[in-house]
Amino acid sequence: MSELRDNCGVFGVYSKFPCVYDIYNGIDFLQHRGQEFCGIATFDQHIHQVTHHGKVGNTFTEQEFHYLTGNWGIGHVSLWERQPMAWQSRLGNISVAFSGNVINAEEIIAAMKDQGHSFYRGYNVEVIAKTIMEADDMVEGIAALTGRIKGAYSLVILAAEGIYATRDVYGFRPLILGQNGTRFAVSSESRAFQNLDMEVVRDVRPGEIILIDAAGFHTLRQLPSPRKAHCAFEWAYTASIDSVIDGLYVQEARNRLGQALAQRDLDEGDTIADIVAPVPMSGIGHALGYHQRSQIRYQEAFLYNRYADRSYTQSSQAAREKMAKRKLSLLKSAVKDKRIVICDDSIIRGTQIRDKVRDLKDAGAREVHVRIACPPLLYPCDFGVSTRTLEELAARHCFPEGTINCFDDLRKLETWIAGQINADSVKYNGIDAFVGALGIPREDLCLKCWNGISPLT
Ligand code: SF4
Repeated sequence: MSELRDNCGVFGVYSKFPCVYDIYNGIDFLQHRGQEFCGIATFDQHIHQVTHHGKVGNTFTEQEFHYLTGNWGIGHVSLWERQPMAWQSRLGNISVAFSGNVINAEEIIAAMKDQGHSFYRGYNVEVIAKTIMEADDMVEGIAALTGRIKGAYSLVILAAEGIYATRDVYGFRPLILGQNGTRFAVSSESRAFQNLDMEVVRDVRPGEIILIDAAGFHTLRQLPSPRKAHCAFEWAYTASIDSVIDGLYVQEARNRLGQALAQRDLDEGDTIADIVAPVPMSGIGHALGYHQRSQIRYQEAFLYNRYADRSYTQSSQAAREKMAKRKLSLLKSAVKDKRIVICDDSIIRGTQIRDKVRDLKDAGAREVHVRIACPPLLYPCDFGVSTRTLEELAARHCFPEGTINCFDDLRKLETWIAGQINADSVKYNGIDAFVGALGIPREDLCLKCWNGISPLT
């Protein structure tokens, strides 16, 4: 599945030595979270900053690495906004990068313009930085975000005294601390630490404001958290499978989601296949889990072209579809005459899974049964993942009112989707099975894109 998009990842490091290569390697390992823009800012007397349109590995030059001097700094990868952004303010010279979404950005921008503020592009990161800079000190400014910003943010701020890191009081987007000796880092995902020989220390708590400096991590304030609302999609799709988020390994979560799908087939007497295959790369963990529970043979059906870009981070639909075609080829001998279970994380519009079902049948597959780890998507995300508009969500065409009330409703949708994509059957994990497989208390998760309930209400 590649119709879903995250929008960014943040990284920061404080070291005794020049840090630019640590930041470069860190954001390179967060590239899956956004491929349109990337940037690095370091502190050496003042802010040194370079941003690019493009991917980390293709854009930075040796000349820029020489310019980005200093022992501490931050980095960013993004789908939408060019970050970090730097300001000279009464709080000092700062550079800011964030992951998330400010729902009420337009309202805040209008109010600030009335007060005489100007905006460069009206980016979310400008709204966040200008809100912070209205305060008398950094901690007060970061704390003030809670009352002003409606939405989600995991944030890093580069300053003379070190790197500030914080997570909104709900903890929507991940943020994690890592360390190797006297090198201290913060990242959207733990996988960035692997690239730097660092170990995970712990997750930043929702509402925690941390300063990272030569002495390590300092909790400057813990804001009260009304509830946790970790994005459940991180475990199902957004995060890399080699990451751990809020104590749960992504790989383990995906295996369990696949096992839940297989258990449903076993419970319903539908042990129907010769092989189980993933949609690469997003369906691998789910398909392995399905195999573990069902004992149906795991077999790759598609070959992933590692040289093609990950299509969900392409910014236009046409670009995504073109990229989706480039990135997978079919292993025809593996699927001919087979009954196949194919696993993926979710269905947005259904066009890509429909194409894969068609390709499998064209290659001689006898039956194709689609198993989807997430419940049917019925609502767009407001918190930093692009799950598209209501009109684009396939499930909405079957349930325009946006509610799946019971198992019969789920059955009705599955039958309808199967017809749309020409599969022999389709099954999703329902919300209860999905939450149960993650093993995280329901009240600690954001499930808004499935049940329409915003954790903010
Ligand atoms: S609405 Fe969906 S994608 Fe967005 S934060 Fe909530 S669970 Fe994640």
